[in-house]
Amino acid sequence: MALSGIEIYKHLPKTNCKKCGFPTCLAFAMKLAQKGIELSACPDLSDAAKQALEAASRPPIRLVTIGNNDKKLAVGNETVMFRHEKTFINPPGLLLRVKDTESANDIAEKAKSVQDYAVERVGFTLTMNGVAVDNASGDKATFVKAVEIVSEHTDRPLVLMAKDPAIMEAALEKVATSTPLIYAATKDNAAAMAQLALKYKCPLAVYDAGGLEELAGLAQEVANAGVEDIVLDPGARDFRGSLINLTQIRKLALKKGFKDLGYPIITFPGEQAADRAEEVALAAQHIAKYAGVIVLDTFDPAVVYPLVTLRLNIYTDPQKPIQMQPGLYEVAGNPKADSPLFVTTNFSLTYFSVVGEIDGSGVASWLVLPDAEGLSVLTAWAAGKFDGERIGKAIKASGVADKISHKKVIIPGHVAVLRGEIEDELPGWEVIVGPKDAVDIPGFLKKIWTLTPA
Ligand code: SF4
Repeated sequence: MALSGIEIYKHLPKTNCKKCGFPTCLAFAMKLAQKGIELSACPDLSDAAKQALEAASRPPIRLVTIGNNDKKLAVGNETVMFRHEKTFINPPGLLLRVKDTESANDIAEKAKSVQDYAVERVGFTLTMNGVAVDNASGDKATFVKAVEIVSEHTDRPLVLMAKDPAIMEAALEKVATSTPLIYAATKDNAAAMAQLALKYKCPLAVYDAGGLEELAGLAQEVANAGVEDIVLDPGARDFRGSLINLTQIRKLALKKGFKDLGYPIITFPGEQAADRAEEVALAAQHIAKYAGVIVLDTFDPAVVYPLVTLRLNIYTDPQKPIQMQPGLYEVAGNPKADSPLFVTTNFSLTYFSVVGEIDGSGVASWLVLPDAEGLSVLTAWAAGKFDGERIGKAIKASGVADKISHKKVIIPGHVAVLRGEIEDELPGWEVIVGPKDAVDIPGFLKKIWTLTPA
């Protein structure tokens, strides 16, 4: 159970020596209670105090890392049940399963698809996170071959899925240096799988579909054997069962401090899905609540795109809109003195929508973003963050007036009401009201800007 700041304070030296960077021991205790600092920041703790406070400093859901290169996947470390309470921290990995019964060509193609998949959205590159190789054949050589093919075609994290510890070890001998997730320890093989996890220094998943008590018991068994990086599979594969299980695990870890369930969770939404649509819907549920690793059975950009987009949205800090740096941008090539000048807010989604449409128009343009605190156009206007004064100041500060031969600025159609205010701020300028929706920019430019003498 997590300790309160006062409870933690009782164990501290109370010298207020400031070595931890805090002015008092009480301030340090309060920060530690919020999991905002490591216990080790206080160098003067007695052994007894360290022991007593260890639980308070341990994250309620352990951070587990799969892979060890720049594409590694870190999951866990979550601290809230609901995103709006603070934020979700580590987005779940989306992996694709290949079975060793598939042809070498199909396995290679799937691994390449995962490796190459990347889409740009609001300034982020969204990708798949890895491949799970399933020993569906039950054969050692076939599994090792499949694992080798996959690792030849992707350097993204791997999950090795085999029931037989001997088969698992044969694959680990080939790829353990890439720190794959071993899936899975069960009642029947837990001791042997735990030994492999320790020997090859890899994280270990535990599987028990018999209920959370059994799952916690199995996690405790491998933890007692010395495995620290554990991933849980409670076994439920349907909508209702997985929602209940995943929610209970999160709740028990966060609210009750139940450390045997304080680990990230792995799910397999395709295993009982009736079709592709159901698999995607279930994966979406797992993104929202509360998976750490999601293994899909289907790869299709039409399936993956909504999932990576949802993941981005869910794991964005709700208190910090994704925003662009305010300032002057060159869009769609190299704008010239007679190029159009747009202004919009520095909310990322707004920026990328506008830039995408200007790009599509093929007309190189200037774009000024005032600091609207990352809000969208109407929200910023309603909040007083996108008004004539801010827009006028941003245009003056950008220096764009020295780069263009005209004095025209195009504003979003939704804030046509600002036209007069901006003209007051920028005497001699013409404020042109643009379209309300970015999608209409190309047509608008064609009509308006070609009529304007360069
Ligand atoms: S370093 Fe330890 S003893 Fe010193 S102020 Fe911080 S908590 Fe107190």
